[in-house]
Amino acid sequence: MNERSDPNPGDIEQIRDDIDRIDADILKLLAERKAHSLRIAKEKGIHDRPSRDQTREEGLISDRIASGMEHDLDSGLVNRVWREIVNDSVRIQQEFLDRAEGPNQAVTVAIQGIDGSYSQLAAQQYFDHKGTSVNYVRSPTFAAAISAVQRGEADVAVLPIENTTSGAISEVYDLLLESNLRFVGDVRFRIRHCLLGIEGASISELRRIYCHPQAVAQCSEFLAQLDRCEIVYFSDTALSGQKIRDLGDPTVAAIASEEAARIFGLDVLKTGIANRDENYTRFVVVAPEPAHVPEGIPTKTSIVMAVGNHPGALMDALGVFHDADINLVMLESRPIPNNPREELFYLDFDGNISDPSVVAVLDTLTRLVRFMRVLGSYPSRDLRPKPVERKGRRATPRGRSALTQLEASPSSPKGYRLGSRGHKEQNTVVEVAGVKLGGEDLVVIAGPCAVESWDQMMTAAKAVKESGGSILRGGCFKPRTSPYSFQGLGMEALEILVEAGKAYGLPVVTEVVSPEDVEGVARKADILQIGTRNMQNFSLLSAVGRAHRPVMLKRGMSSSLDELLQAAEYILSEGNQQVFLCERGIRTFETSTRNTLDLSAVPVLRQRTHLPVIVDPSHAAGDRDLVPPLALAAQAIGAHGIMVEIHPDPDTALSDGPQSLTLDQFREMMVGLGLSS
Ligand code: PEP
Ligand code: MN
Repeated sequence: MNERSDPNPGDIEQIRDDIDRIDADILKLLAERKAHSLRIAKEKGIHDRPSRDQTREEGLISDRIASGMEHDLDSGLVNRVWREIVNDSVRIQQEFLDRAEGPNQAVTVAIQGIDGSYSQLAAQQYFDHKGTSVNYVRSPTFAAAISAVQRGEADVAVLPIENTTSGAISEVYDLLLESNLRFVGDVRFRIRHCLLGIEGASISELRRIYCHPQAVAQCSEFLAQLDRCEIVYFSDTALSGQKIRDLGDPTVAAIASEEAARIFGLDVLKTGIANRDENYTRFVVVAPEPAHVPEGIPTKTSIVMAVGNHPGALMDALGVFHDADINLVMLESRPIPNNPREELFYLDFDGNISDPSVVAVLDTLTRLVRFMRVLGSYPSRDLRPKPVERKGRRATPRGRSALTQLEASPSSPKGYRLGSRGHKEQNTVVEVAGVKLGGEDLVVIAGPCAVESWDQMMTAAKAVKESGGSILRGGCFKPRTSPYSFQGLGMEALEILVEAGKAYGLPVVTEVVSPEDVEGVARKADILQIGTRNMQNFSLLSAVGRAHRPVMLKRGMSSSLDELLQAAEYILSEGNQQVFLCERGIRTFETSTRNTLDLSAVPVLRQRTHLPVIVDPSHAAGDRDLVPPLALAAQAIGAHGIMVEIHPDPDTALSDGPQSLTLDQFREMMVGLGLSS
């Protein structure tokens, strides 16, 4: 047996030197290996673009493990080290191929700000890395940069969305949600704020500093020391540099980038003035069309969702990612304008929308949340490469699970999926201001066909409340068959409807007839109605699909139930999961009633879809005396709700008087339904 003796300190130094030398050699060899990987990438680029060769990668790793064993090296260690090496070389090759995609391609980029602005510097960093040359559209506002892309004047916009010190840039989030542009990239840009002055300026003499509110927040500690200085808010960092150059006053300074100092010929009075040395802003690159990222490249996906406001709703939604072992990298919440009861959550996760397991996760999410939209999948340098998976680990080949899911869904051949029972077994419950549509209780929606006056609405709302109704209706924009009929009082009517609803604690529903009106109506009304004549107005359906209000979709008077479900799919696929359907009578040869109430629609729809189904006997019958018996039949057959038209004085009604119940008739009907005594 060898005698163990402690090495003396000199020996240890020597051994450490040897290890340093070996590590240096390893690094040199890794760099050499990287150069060879790049050469392979160039070859691949010339001979088309094959996807990664997993069989070869696995073979290589097995060889290295075998050789390592000859050197007495642990197979686990060799396995781990070479997987990292192989992943890195795949990443290097894919990045090269990305760059090579469009040699000397030029891209037009819209930014908010001028040259020297952080947006411009971030865009430059992003496209320099890709080897793409850039033309800039310099816009005065974020909204203008977004519309430059929408009008086709720019290919993409590069916009800041969050900063490590000052947090989310909410204006940009809100504009992006409205815009429908897709996220195709992101870049983390290191912000290096500098204090700039004209030649001869000195910090001790400064009396005024122009700066952007974000820069004020990020440099608050430095600014607090300059107690004799007035801070003047300025809308743009680089422009504040231009401003002080034009003023030519040595007592005035600006906070901007070093680049801005160079552009405007200013002196840098101090660098590193931010509260935190590590001050980064994340910019997103947005385009009209989504990006398609090949498998294997580290990919981030951004989505936006709204969850219900019951306890645990957010946790349930996030649990879906946890269960699928998907790494969340960012969660940001934003209030929904004019909708204080709900919040939107922006979420970034490590995953690619073209991966079937990600598709499955997002599918599960749509069953749980009120709203979910994918903003985009894009390569991200913030993420680590996905490890090379062991051969045979995945039981079924990629793509199979998504396919079997589709096959398992009996409704998919008919052109809808998200609305089908196959997608979601449990009934959707649409909740609005405490009223639950789709649950056990029958919900009654009532009110006049059209909002005509303040008094009419107040009287109707009082009757709805007192007789046990839950939701107040009233048409503001009336889609009339004849252009000479009363068309509704528009936005003025909406004010009256909302006030009447508030006075009696009733949420309100009103019809929206054009995509341009959706945003304005959604700001005030609790539920958006799509009428029978618009059931296949696809741009209108998409517009309400982007809104954050529940939608009542009425069946087209000549539409089949599958067509109704496909119309609902337009709404669901835009993100809005809060949809309920309304049977309101269809055209048949029978002329005794205005339309024929298709009561079998209720059980058929309940079989095919998880969405709540209600019945409107008023528009079906066209005759007020037929409404109560039809309402009872709808209740008996399992409708989740009933919508009826009522009027304080039906004979004077400006629309649909003959089918409107008197307030007394309504009260009696509610007693008959067991909702009032
Ligand atoms: C309505 O409910 O006001 C209406 C116009 O109904 P429909 O679209 O079913 O005709
Ligand atoms: Mn009507």
